Amino acid sequence: MRTVTTITEVRAVLDGVRRQGNTVGLVPTMGALHAGHASLMDRAADECDVVTASLFVNPLQFTPEEDLASYPQDPAGDAQLAEDHGVDVLFRPAVAEMFGEAPLTTVSVAELTDRFEGASRPTHFAGVTTVVCKLCNIAGPCRAYFGEKDWQQLVVVTRMIRDLSFPVDVVGCATVREPDGLALSSRNTYLGAEARAAAPVIRRSLQAGADSLADGERDGARVRALMVALIEVEPLARLDYVDVVRADDLVPVERLHGELRLLAAVRFGPTRLIDNLGVTV
Ligand code: AMP
Repeated sequence: MRTVTTITEVRAVLDGVRRQGNTVGLVPTMGALHAGHASLMDRAADECDVVTASLFVNPLQFTPEEDLASYPQDPAGDAQLAEDHGVDVLFRPAVAEMFGEAPLTTVSVAELTDRFEGASRPTHFAGVTTVVCKLCNIAGPCRAYFGEKDWQQLVVVTRMIRDLSFPVDVVGCATVREPDGLALSSRNTYLGAEARAAAPVIRRSLQAGADSLADGERDGARVRALMVALIEVEPLARLDYVDVVRADDLVPVERLHGELRLLAAVRFGPTRLIDNLGVTV
């Protein structure tokens, strides 16, 4: 595995890969890598000739009161995990390399970003789409791998790539979970023992919503109420939102049919966790 830190170098390497007739896979991450990230790398390694993963804690996607300064970092562990999961080129730029000059240009996606994570974290998605746009422009034509764990992000990025005709195929990858159902997240390391024990309530709530759909429930309000009630049973959990939406455009639905996503965001003390589950009825 080769580690590169400059835009010029990673671009030259990946241009060379394509000139030789090989395909490129891109896995954007913020580091503190875990088995969820590893699953994206494994899939990219299966489907592409050369895999590049980026490790960049993107300051643009943190709102001012968020955890940018304390975001977990593990450079040595990240390099090992990436190498073990088929990454050929690790792109690890400094903030100055990516945004040395504070950007005057940002890329933002309308409508899809005004709710859920966008409502709770204003400016977050413009930060995400700006950095993903930049990473795609740096990497060039490729397949880009994103986790379903961040469902809204996946929908937003897919739309940006379509709207702006990027030569990039977006690939969504299934959420990797702990044995007790908690979705893996770099932010899980913030949870104390009690909050960690309580956190699987998110997945139980989503699963209860999905089970009620499987049992024939078609009323959105009743599914939401069921999911809320389950989360409220857990004293350490503070609900941010739950909803049932159309999977492709995140519009909340009342009469449930088609491809749906159950979404949840819940706080445990200062730590905010998100998760989601897909259901087709
Ligand atoms: P992050 O480092 O949190 O920005 O995540 C980088 C990529 O990994 C994003 O596309 C995430 O959706 C994805 N990811 C994070 N957690 C998981 C997980 N538990 N399962 C699958 N993908 C994940």
